[in-house]
Amino acid sequence: MKNKHHITRRSFGTGLAGLAGVATFAGVNAVSNMALAGNELQILAPSLMVPIEVTSTLKSQGLNSDKWMCSVSGEFAKKFKLGTQIRVRRNGSEYAVYTVGDVREDDPANLIRMGKIARERLGTSDSFEGRLMPTLALKPMTDDEAETYGEFVERVYDTKEHQGLVILAPHGGGIEFNTDLQARWVADALPDADLSTWCCSGWHNNGSDYTRWHVTSTKIHPASFPGLASIAERGFAYAVSFHGQKADGVLIGGGGPIELKETLRDEIKAVVGNHPVTIAEPGDHNSGMSAENVVNWMTAGGSGGIQLEQSPEIRDGYWIDVAEAVAKVYESLI
Ligand SMILES: [Zn+2]
Repeated sequence: MKNKHHITRRSFGTGLAGLAGVATFAGVNAVSNMALAGNELQILAPSLMVPIEVTSTLKSQGLNSDKWMCSVSGEFAKKFKLGTQIRVRRNGSEYAVYTVGDVREDDPANLIRMGKIARERLGTSDSFEGRLMPTLALKPMTDDEAETYGEFVERVYDTKEHQGLVILAPHGGGIEFNTDLQARWVADALPDADLSTWCCSGWHNNGSDYTRWHVTSTKIHPASFPGLASIAERGFAYAVSFHGQKADGVLIGGGGPIELKETLRDEIKAVVGNHPVTIAEPGDHNSGMSAENVVNWMTAGGSGGIQLEQSPEIRDGYWIDVAEAVAKVYESLI
């Protein structure tokens, strides 16, 4: 295993080369450009900006206190299906990603409903006129550019139809910092291994990256992430996802086998000082055991993933150590 410590934010997306590819967004086939970033492809969404009106939910929808969901009209649901993600843009500096949690068949075509708490993510508690857009960035950009513009980039590394291990970082960039770099560190440390990576990185240049871009792991829909869709049916033997939590230490969850979790715990425990390293119990917050969790449904059996939740201190001071421990464990398996 090579011991590489040189991964930096800047290197991802430099030397962008345009490549033509076919991507699917929300069920609409469209030709989109993909851009090479290191050995990853940045997946671009087709250019789309639909005028919308955003207003309150109806009590019967049960979405009033949901910060992350909205409803669309029956007309919009033909393209933006239930369970998929959309970007709602209020103006040039206020936009965020939402999951379509309800379809209102008889609503006016351009009406989006969300609770006050969800509208407040866009800096207002009022109704407003805005635009509906794809979640993903429309242009090729480096991570540095995405950070500057407060954007969201999806990148995939998958050169040979790998089936061994998929390494996921759904909440990279500023959402759960250093998790995307960890995914890349592992891939970089195992250069000839049967592995692929999927990283999403988002930033808010003027507020909370998390509030703008977080989509919980059980809601991430491949129709909204063409890069994920391209490997969604692969049936990987192993999947591991890097995440951030507020609680101290590292929590090892997911639907994967207990023996694998114990091996990971022992390897990680050895490199993170006095921080606790715990195996999640079913029902724990962030246990990652739901079959709806992307890290589980990406595996061949549909339930075998490993989810690593890490405190800010771990991701700040030990992110390479944890990545190295993870690489060591999977190196012997794939
Ligand atoms: Zn996360």
